Amino acid sequence: SSASGPLRLEDWIRDIPDFPQKGVLFRDITPLLQNPEAFRAAIDRLAAHYSGAGIQTVVGVESRGFIFAAPLAYLLGCGFVPVRKFGKLPAKTVSVEYALEYGTNIVEMHTDAIKPGERVLIVDDLLATGGTVSAAMELVEKLGGHIAGIAFLVELTYLKGRERLKGYDVFALIKY
Ligand code: AMP
Repeated sequence: SSASGPLRLEDWIRDIPDFPQKGVLFRDITPLLQNPEAFRAAIDRLAAHYSGAGIQTVVGVESRGFIFAAPLAYLLGCGFVPVRKFGKLPAKTVSVEYALEYGTNIVEMHTDAIKPGERVLIVDDLLATGGTVSAAMELVEKLGGHIAGIAFLVELTYLKGRERLKGYDVFALIKY
């Protein structure tokens, strides 16, 4: 905080109309990442929210989820586990296929990345429809992990992704 009040994270998100296609309002997080105070505030606020929550592993969703998940894991004293796109992880994996607007996508996690009963926090940059994070959740649950929280920098509430995540603890720093 300062004389001008606490830093407003939403001031560091840039709206780009019609990207990557017409009709989509893209929420660009790169100004926030580029600003040292805003980036630090985002990570610190996520860490404050989950400190004392008994998180044992932080799972980051490729690729923008990694940016937030890794420093958060460091601050919470946890390990970091990547959810990656098909074909990137070298050892034995579990995989989940999920529907996109056009076609499908496959995401993977190493089978030894999470132990049964482990308290896991899943992190991505942005919640839109919830399709991506649902696939990550399925991977964690296939390995017997307990999803203790799901965190985002940004939530697009008008896309109702939260309804797909019913019964889970969902947290977002910025809501549109
Ligand atoms: P969804 O699976 O629909 O929740 O989409 C989530 C993923 O798509 C996130 O990881 C975002 O990086 C990206 N995404 C979807 N919609 C937007 C948007 N309007 N602005 C920026 N990123 C988006």
